[in-house]
Amino acid sequence: MNLRIGNGIDFHKIEKLDEEGLMVLGGTSIRSYYKIIAHSDGDIVLHALSDAILGACGEADIGYFFPDTDQKNKNLDSKVILNKALEIMKSKNYYILNIDITLVAEVPKINLYRDQIKESLAQLCKISKDQVSVKATTTEKMGFIGQKEGIACFASVLLGKN
Ligand code: ZN
Repeated sequence: MNLRIGNGIDFHKIEKLDEEGLMVLGGTSIRSYYKIIAHSDGDIVLHALSDAILGACGEADIGYFFPDTDQKNKNLDSKVILNKALEIMKSKNYYILNIDITLVAEVPKINLYRDQIKESLAQLCKISKDQVSVKATTTEKMGFIGQKEGIACFASVLLGKN
């Protein structure tokens, strides 16, 4: 069997909003009183996932393909990043067996949105929902995540080869 494993991790600062707004997670918008501060649309799930896919393919990280010093990448839709990673994956004849996502965040609470995010990731990656897991944990109020200054996301992916 020709299997490849990859992992990706991403961190972003978050900021409290005066009114409830939208936060993009896994290619779908959820309601939140916090927003992610980023050069792109800040989709931390797609960033970690794209890095995991690139890692499994033996490629460099997303910053190599989409440098944040490039004005072109300002407010970039992170689906463009994911699609680039998927394109590289396909060109090497790999396909996704499963994706495992863990969001580390005090806010937002993703329980209400877990299914929506799973559905979105499955659609974007053209796989079925049972190949995608979306989990979340907190840091028990410790550190920058616990103080609601930032969030983190871990992604693991297993690829098979055609
Ligand atoms: Zn990011």
